[in-house]
Amino acid sequence: NSFMELHLSRSLLRACEALGYSKPTPIQAACIPMALAGRDICGSAITGSGKTAAFALPTLERLLFRPKRVPAIRVLILTPTRELAVQVHSMIEKLSQFTDIRCCLIVGGLSTKMQEAALRSMPDIVVATPGRMIDHLRNSMSVDLEDLAVLILDEADRLLELGFSAEINELVRMCPKRRQTMLFSATMTEEVDGLIKLSLTKPVRLSA
Ligand code: AMP
Repeated sequence: NSFMELHLSRSLLRACEALGYSKPTPIQAACIPMALAGRDICGSAITGSGKTAAFALPTLERLLFRPKRVPAIRVLILTPTRELAVQVHSMIEKLSQFTDIRCCLIVGGLSTKMQEAALRSMPDIVVATPGRMIDHLRNSMSVDLEDLAVLILDEADRLLELGFSAEINELVRMCPKRRQTMLFSATMTEEVDGLIKLSLTKPVRLSA
């Protein structure tokens, strides 16, 4: 029951140590091996369970293990609110601090021009709210999701409650069919079930 047993790279183990994480939380212990095996994940998990590192660590490991051939966005993380996007982005910056993985934040209320430049520089990971991400994909010829390897839908129930269903469907359609998808939700409603059917392939169901 340690991070060492989860087969993560040294740079990620160092980051966990720097953050003071001594052992994985239950959702991390369950999710990390399945995600490293490439499975789609459907997790019932609330904030406070350690779900962010549960999806971030195996995703970072995948980026380290399979470096990209061409500059491209490899991971898209969608969150319902700007506040959550800021938190997830900050957690990923901390977990990737000993790597050269780059992560950028795309949310409303920040300069569109600066975000556009950040996206054109092809960060490995984009943490975004759905509306703003769609705007960039529609308006910029040089930004696409064609090389995406991992899609993460965080707080799926809130994404749907806030009315992002159409945006999420459009974003899912822009991603390659062959990808890994992880969805986390505090509650499993009928709407969330619909999104699971649309976006996940034979998911492993986990709960914290
Ligand atoms: P989250 O559920 O992802 O919002 O995380 C809740 C809090 O738990 C955050 O402050 C994390 O930094 C912290 N955390 C995540 N994983 C661990 C761990 N394995 N050990 C101790 N704290 C953790």
